[in-house]
Amino acid sequence: MSLISKDFRLHKQREEEHGHARLRWALVAIACAGIGAVIASTNTEETRQSAEIAAKSLPEFTAITKSTEELARESFSLSLPELQAQQKIIDEKNARDPDISPKQWREFTVKSGDNLARLFKRADIKPQQLDELMKSGDAVKKLRRIFPKDTIRVLSDSAGVLQALRYDIDQKSYLLVEREQGVLVAKTYNHKIETRQTHASAVIDSSLFLAGEKAGISDNIIMELANIFGWDIDFALDIRKGDNFTVLFEELYRDGEKISDGKILAADFVNDGKIFRAVRYTDPHTNNSEYYTPDGKSMRKAFIRSPVHFSRISSGFNLKRKHPILLNKRPHRGVDYAAKRGTPIFAAGDGKVIFKGKKGGYGKVMILQHGTKYTTLYAHLKTYNRKLRTGSRVKQGQTIAYVGSSGLATGPHLHYEFRVNGVHRNPLTVRLPESNPVPKRHMANFDLMTAPVIAQLDLVVTRPQQVALTND
Ligand SMILES: [Zn+2]
Repeated sequence: MSLISKDFRLHKQREEEHGHARLRWALVAIACAGIGAVIASTNTEETRQSAEIAAKSLPEFTAITKSTEELARESFSLSLPELQAQQKIIDEKNARDPDISPKQWREFTVKSGDNLARLFKRADIKPQQLDELMKSGDAVKKLRRIFPKDTIRVLSDSAGVLQALRYDIDQKSYLLVEREQGVLVAKTYNHKIETRQTHASAVIDSSLFLAGEKAGISDNIIMELANIFGWDIDFALDIRKGDNFTVLFEELYRDGEKISDGKILAADFVNDGKIFRAVRYTDPHTNNSEYYTPDGKSMRKAFIRSPVHFSRISSGFNLKRKHPILLNKRPHRGVDYAAKRGTPIFAAGDGKVIFKGKKGGYGKVMILQHGTKYTTLYAHLKTYNRKLRTGSRVKQGQTIAYVGSSGLATGPHLHYEFRVNGVHRNPLTVRLPESNPVPKRHMANFDLMTAPVIAQLDLVVTRPQQVALTND
């Protein structure tokens, strides 16, 4: 069950990210009523520029809701030693200038509906300083897109004159505005991002996600792991108690502090006594990275085993099944995946929509053609992806429709059929064609690049004693 809910959450989050990207116009930081009066007394060139800036920014004074990006940003902040080092540099600089009395950095959090003018007011910085700040260089444009909960750090003197301002743009860079010989200068600085390798192992008791959580592995790594092995292992049906995995992956560090997980380099997954292994390899020509078996076969298949993520199989392929509604004997020539109404359904492989419409007891149906041999059918749909019509091309993994209970269905589920040359085959057991292996001309390079990673994986693989392994 936890698999399902977690997956929903991840999907939802992805949708939200898209939604918020559209709202990125966001909060603009400059101009306020106070500026106008000041501008009037300055020269005409400045007046024109300021007026332009003000005009551009005025309609965008709206507060925005919190996005995942902001949440991510909230989770990290400047380390204290780093801030202190910065403080020291500025203090020393200020100490050289007798007019400026050294002050402490102060931290302000952007509020909903806020802008830089209001923030300056809270910080007792003169409003005309804002105008000067906005002319301190191109880098300062980043301040036009500040979000509620963002942190802005300022250093100002007792006369309300801004001496320095600091703003974290993202995990990799920050904006620093400093007064140099009386003039504010804005620059963007990059943090040093360092990649380190690490590994983790876990034994599965009930679900992959729970095991990962228990072992302290991030959801991202677990999702990635499921994506890599999802072609061979159905994480809804195939997981057995005692299944285990070891994963070798990168961690990204910023100035000595971990900021996120990176890529999976190699992984070992034992499912029902069978060992699966994957290693990441980057094609030296295209620079594309893919996961392969240690002998260079693609981990990806031409088809995804199950077209809905982590759902529960409510009825398998059975040629002698009694129909749950009609109660007569009717072969079940597909697999039923019970899932929440509205769960996205993915195209099992690259192909073309050859049917979209109602088909009796199947309700709303979509049929995809993949090459000349294969067709897949998706039934009891709630709705289709509105962009798709008969003849539309689809990519593997693309959302084609949503789970429903149209037609003769006892509850929301996806009825999925897989046909080879027109003959129904069990989607759970049919031999799926593989996608391209490492090209022959790259095999030497593949061996060279992956051998050390696989050797390292061998070193860290831990398997529970009670699991007897076979190599086939
Ligand atoms: Zn069915």
